[in-house]
Amino acid sequence: MQKGKIGVTTENIFPVIKKFLYSDHEIFLRELVSNAVDASQKIRTLSGFGEFKGELGELDVRVTIDKEAGTLTVSDHGIGMDADDLDKYINQIAFSGAEEFLAKYKDSANHIIGHFGLGFYSAFMVAKKVVINSLSYKEGAEAVRWECDGSPEYSMEPGTRTERGTDIVLYIDDDNKQFLEQARVDALLKKYCRFLPVPVISGKEEEWKDGKMQPTDRDKVVNATAPLWLKKPSELKDEDYLAFYHELYPGQDDPMFWIHLNVDYPFTLTGVLFFPKLKDNFEVTKNRIQLYCNQVFVTDSVEGVVPEFMMLLQGVIDSPDIPLNVSRSYLQSDAAVKKISGYITKKVSGRLAELFTADRAGFEKKWDDIKIFIEYGMLTDEKFCDAAMKFTLLRDTEGHYFTLEEYKTLVEAAQTDRSGNIIYLYATDAEAQHNYIEAATARGYNVLLMDGRLDTHFVGLLEQKLEKTRLVRVDTGSVDSLIDKGDKKATGLNPLQINELTTVFRSQMPDVNKAMFMVEFEALGATSMPAMLTQNEFMSRMKAMAAMQPGMDMYAGLPDSYNLVVNTEHPVVQRIVSDASAALDEKIQPLADRIDTDNAAIGALRNDAPDGKLSPDNEQRVADLEKSVSETRAEQEKIIADYAATQPVVRQLIDLALLQAGLLKGEQLSHFVRRSVEML
Ligand code: ADP
Repeated sequence: MQKGKIGVTTENIFPVIKKFLYSDHEIFLRELVSNAVDASQKIRTLSGFGEFKGELGELDVRVTIDKEAGTLTVSDHGIGMDADDLDKYINQIAFSGAEEFLAKYKDSANHIIGHFGLGFYSAFMVAKKVVINSLSYKEGAEAVRWECDGSPEYSMEPGTRTERGTDIVLYIDDDNKQFLEQARVDALLKKYCRFLPVPVISGKEEEWKDGKMQPTDRDKVVNATAPLWLKKPSELKDEDYLAFYHELYPGQDDPMFWIHLNVDYPFTLTGVLFFPKLKDNFEVTKNRIQLYCNQVFVTDSVEGVVPEFMMLLQGVIDSPDIPLNVSRSYLQSDAAVKKISGYITKKVSGRLAELFTADRAGFEKKWDDIKIFIEYGMLTDEKFCDAAMKFTLLRDTEGHYFTLEEYKTLVEAAQTDRSGNIIYLYATDAEAQHNYIEAATARGYNVLLMDGRLDTHFVGLLEQKLEKTRLVRVDTGSVDSLIDKGDKKATGLNPLQINELTTVFRSQMPDVNKAMFMVEFEALGATSMPAMLTQNEFMSRMKAMAAMQPGMDMYAGLPDSYNLVVNTEHPVVQRIVSDASAALDEKIQPLADRIDTDNAAIGALRNDAPDGKLSPDNEQRVADLEKSVSETRAEQEKIIADYAATQPVVRQLIDLALLQAGLLKGEQLSHFVRRSVEML
C-alpha cells in the first residue's frame, strides 16, 4: 500500500476548501458528474481512433445514494485511472501561492475550483472521507483504490473493481446530510446536468399506482443528451423550438421568435435565444438566459456576457470560451467576452432585419410586442442602434407602420417648417389628445403614436439620430404653431385689445390643481375651435421622463404649464373682442396712457443717471412712479375683471378648452353644465 501526502504546498487545503467554498458547496455534484462524463467521452474518442479496442458498453453515469452507509457515489464506465494516473491527476495538484490566492478570492467557489482544476477536491466540501475505485482502460491495468479522509494524507492500494471506469464514493459529513436525499440530488442534477452529453442516471422512474407515486424498476435518466441548440437549424422545426422553450420555461406563453446561435471562429458558441412576449413589468424576465459550458450549466446570471438589453431575452448560451470561473468585473473587461457580446448583438440585429425583410406584414404584427426590446437596445447599444435604424418602425395614430425612411418620405413635403426642419408630430395618448390629433390630421399632417414605456426617451434618440428633424407633441400648440411655416396670420388685435383680452380671459381662469396658464392669441380660422389648451413641449417631456426615473422629482413636482390659445378668427371670439372694446376702451385707454407716460418717465430718469446710478432724489421719484404704475395696473385689471365676470361666454370658452384637455372636473364641471343649460 502506498501512503503519501497530497502534493499541495498549503499545509492543509481541505479546511480551506470547506470553509471558503461553503456557500457554493452544492457544485461538488456538478464537478464530479462532469468528470465522469468527460471520462466517458474520452473512452468513446479513443475507441473512435482505434486506440481502445475493447467493448465500449453502456457509457452512462450513475449517481447512487446509500442512506444506510451514508454515501453518495458517482460511477462511470469511462477511461478509468491506474495508480500512475491517480498520482498524476489527483495526488499532485499543481499548486503554488495557494494561500495567497485563496485569501484573495475567498468569496466564490467557482474561482478557486476553475482556476486550479480542483473539481475533484470539491468533494471535500460535503464529505468526511472520499474513496476512489478505478480500473483503467489500458491493457493489463490493475484496479486501484484510493482513500482520503480530508487530511492531506491519502492511501492507495490495489482495488477490487472489475469493470472499466471509476467510482467516486463520498462519505457525506453530518452537515451535509441533505445530499443523501434523492429529491435534493434530483434537483441538483436537473439544474446542472440536464443537458450533459452522456446519460446520467439517478434513482428510479416513478409511477402512479394504488393511489400514490411509487418507484418502478426502470432507471431514471435525468438529462437530454442531445440538446436542441447543438442540432442543425435546418433539421429543426418550429415545434421543436417551442417544445424546447416550454421545457426550459414551463407555464409561459409561446415566444414570438428565436435565434439559433452557432459560431466556431474566432470563438466557439452555440445557443438559442428566445424573444418572450413581454408583460408590462419586464423586470421579471431578467436573469433568464442560461449559460452553459460544454453542456454543463454554469449560471443564469449573464450580466456582462450578453448586452444589457438582451437580458430581456430567454434561452441558452453554451460556450467553452467564456471564462466562467472569474469574477464579474473581470468578465466585463475580458476581450473574449466583449467579442461574444458583440457577436450576439450582431446576430440579433441580423435576425430582426431578416424577419423584417422576409415577412414585413408578420413583423408589423409583432411590432407592438418587440418594440420595447428594440427601443431598449437602440437606447443602450450604439451598434445595435445603427443596425436597427433600418428595421425599427414608427406607428401612426391610424395603425400604419413605417420605417424611418418611409416616414420621412411620407411627411417631408407637408411637415417641413420654415427653417427646413422636418417636424414629426406625435401623440402620447390617442384618447386624451384626440382633438389635437384630429386637427393635425385635418390639416394633412400625420401623427405618430408614442405611447410605449420607453417612448419618451426614444423621441429624444430619434431627434439625435435623424438629421434636421424635430419631434413635437401634438398637444403643444395649435395646428398652425406646431409646424411654423412662416405663414402665420396676424391676429388683427391692437395692443389695447390684447391688453384687455388677456385680462378678460386670465381673470376668468379657474384654479386647476397643479397647473399654470398663459393666454395667447392666434388667428386659426373661423372653423377651428374658439379656444384650446396646449402644453409646453419641453416641460411635458421632462415630466414624462421624471415619471420614469428616480432623482428627477424636481420636474415631477412642477405644475403643468399650459397655453390657452384664443382663436381671434372665431366669430364668438370676435364678438367678445368687439363687446370688450365697446365696454372698456374708453375707461382703459387713459389708464394705459398713464402707465405709458409713467414708464417713459422711469426710462428717462434711468437713462440720465451717470453709470446707471440714480441720485437719492431720483431714486425716490422712480419708486413713486413704479408704485403709480402698479396701482394703475391694479385698477385696470379690476375694471376688466369686473367686466369679464359679467360675460359668461368667456368662462364658457375656457371651460370648453379645459374640458377637451381633460382638466375640467368636480364642482367646476357641474358649474359648466349648469351654465350651458342656462345659455341654451
Ligand atoms: P479537472 O477536471 O478540472 O482537470 P479535477 O480535479 O476534477 O480537475 O480532475 C483532475 C483529473 O483527474 C482530470 O483531469 C482527469 O484526468 C482525472 N479524473 C477525475 N475524475 C475522473 C474520472 N471519473 N475518470 C477518469 N479520470 C478522472
